Amino acid sequence: MLVNAYGAHAGDQPLQPLQITRRAPGAHDVQIDIAFCGICHSDLHQVRAEWHGTQFPCVPGHEIVGRVAAVGAHVHGFRPGDLVGIGCIVDSCKHCADCEDGLENYCDGMIGTYNFPTPDAPGWTLGGYSQQIVVHERYVLRIRHPEEQLAAVAPLLCAGITTYSPLRHWQVGPGKKVGVVGIGGLGHMGIKLAHALGAHVVAFTTSDAKREAARQLGADEVVVSRNAEEMAAHAKSFDLILNTVAAPHDLDAFLVLLKRDGGMTLVGAPATPHASPNVFNLIMKRRTLAGSMIGGIAETQEMLDFCAAHGIVADIELVRADQINESYERMLKGDVKYRFVIDNATLAG
Ligand code: NAP
Ligand code: ZN
Repeated sequence: MLVNAYGAHAGDQPLQPLQITRRAPGAHDVQIDIAFCGICHSDLHQVRAEWHGTQFPCVPGHEIVGRVAAVGAHVHGFRPGDLVGIGCIVDSCKHCADCEDGLENYCDGMIGTYNFPTPDAPGWTLGGYSQQIVVHERYVLRIRHPEEQLAAVAPLLCAGITTYSPLRHWQVGPGKKVGVVGIGGLGHMGIKLAHALGAHVVAFTTSDAKREAARQLGADEVVVSRNAEEMAAHAKSFDLILNTVAAPHDLDAFLVLLKRDGGMTLVGAPATPHASPNVFNLIMKRRTLAGSMIGGIAETQEMLDFCAAHGIVADIELVRADQINESYERMLKGDVKYRFVIDNATLAG
């Protein structure tokens, strides 16, 4: 069936209205009417071809929430009308060690929500800046937040799980000191989640203006990372630093803030590489430099349920589809508190 969407025909062109085809639901598929879709910085990297291999037309969007419209004959876990979400994963091989461990995000055959190969037209997946999506039931998440919070739940499907997964992997909780670098879409969720897990949270920002806001998000302390004195006051003190910055920057400035056996996990995925860190900053205190990619389906459901139980949602600014290009420019300037979310009803006309 044909549905309205918003996407780009080339990396140097703005996004514009277009129509795409969705498959009819198969036996294990769930067809979803998309109510809202968050705007992740990854959408911008991909649609502007900053990462290699973007297929056009490109329809981004992997922070999807809405209601089930129809289900295939063999779907038993979902019914029409259910509130559901789709994150960054719409398929995987389903039988490798990663899939069996519930870590579909690390499956070599993982199919991302946009720009991954699919038998469906046009040959690559198309994301949530669209009216509907059809996904195998294994990758559909249940939303237990009240419906009036639905738009603010959308960013949990990527920004939420991408920060929750490394916080859990590194066993963040009471007694742990955690830094979150970059207060954007991911970073603001990292602060909320680390705080809810009981850690002592320090937010690092390049923007002096975000000082007070970071505290309101749950940070116990805020450091403006351009200020060398403020940075030095935290030397050798962190168990974990979660780095969400979307641009190359000096990693050593943060590695020296880790205590012995501490680790920094990179989730930011800049288009050009960071300069190599000084290896002595790792060796001298047995520090770890790690990475992490989104999270598996079971962990995403765990995160959604944790957020519902703790009343956690994203801080969002709701935009119309015709404001997507402007939202990208504002995101690049750091002018967003803290996630743009598209009202997909505005795709109708
Ligand atoms: P975002 O909303 O634009 O936030 C990024 C933040 O980084 C900014 O708000 C800013 O915070 C800081 N920043 C930006 N440019 C900087 C610079 N030149 N130097 C220092 N700080 C800078 O982006 P997002 O949606 O949170 O995504 C962040 C990154 O994570 C992107 O690269 C995205 O592709 C990636 N990502 C990765 C995964 C994964 O699975 N690993 C998943 C989703 C997204 P301050 O103003 O506070 O400094
Ligand atoms: Zn994302």
